[in-house]
Amino acid sequence: MPAQPLDATPEQLARAGQKQDEDNKAKAKPLPKGVVLGPDGKPCRTCTSLSSWRAMTKQKQPDTVATTTPLAGHTSALQSPADCPPDVEQLGRSSWTLLHSITANYPERPTVTQQTETKQFISLFGKMYPCWVCADDFRAWMKEGNEPRVSNREEFGRWACEAHNAVNVKLGKDSFDCNKWEERWRTGCS
Ligand SMILES: Cc1cc2nc3c(=O)[nH]c(=O)nc-3n(C[C@H](O)[C@H](O)[C@H](O)COP(=O)(O)OP(=O)(O)OC[C@H]3O[C@@H](n4cnc5c(N)ncnc54)[C@H](O)[C@@H]3O)c2cc1C
Repeated sequence: MPAQPLDATPEQLARAGQKQDEDNKAKAKPLPKGVVLGPDGKPCRTCTSLSSWRAMTKQKQPDTVATTTPLAGHTSALQSPADCPPDVEQLGRSSWTLLHSITANYPERPTVTQQTETKQFISLFGKMYPCWVCADDFRAWMKEGNEPRVSNREEFGRWACEAHNAVNVKLGKDSFDCNKWEERWRTGCS
């Protein structure tokens, strides 16, 4: 805030503060493409790719690995530095690993309680997923007749594969062959 005369009234101080806020807003640069705001109005790191985040912060990060060819299965040419908060892609890969691994270890004949608890877990996962735009779309997809199918492992595994494919399609990626979900997440690479 600019220096104020020592005898400025509270009203003058308030007006000066307001003007400063307006000046700051006018000076604020538009956010780079891809930067998603969180519910608090601030940029949401777990909703934004590392490249967009980097464009916003323009901070030099010496321990970052920038590759010229994307890593296998990665969409971004940038790899998050170790021990940094995840971007939307890193969070996604870790979350899908958890979700598919849960389906891979789901019983072939689950009890009623296990089925109920699994539905509760997916419902809460869809509410608490830390990328809010992803979570909104995931819940919307489930409401479009895609409620979790949890009657056995095969059903649940395929449902998760379809959920993942819905995001793949949204992001313009190839769909995964759901006949191979179990090989990818349970039996493969022996
Ligand atoms: C619920 C949810 C919603 C998301 N929504 C968004 C979003 O709206 N916007 C956004 O930018 N990102 C979103 N993501 C993240 C996004 O799906 C990816 O995780 C991220 O883009 C990184 O992609 P990736 O290509 O590295 O591999 P990922 O898509 O993370 O896949 C990891 C591995 O899973 C395997 N795989 C791929 N597809 C399938 C499948 N259908 N079934 C089984 N295995 C498969 C492949 O071996 C792949 O290498 C979301 C993630 C989750 C968990």
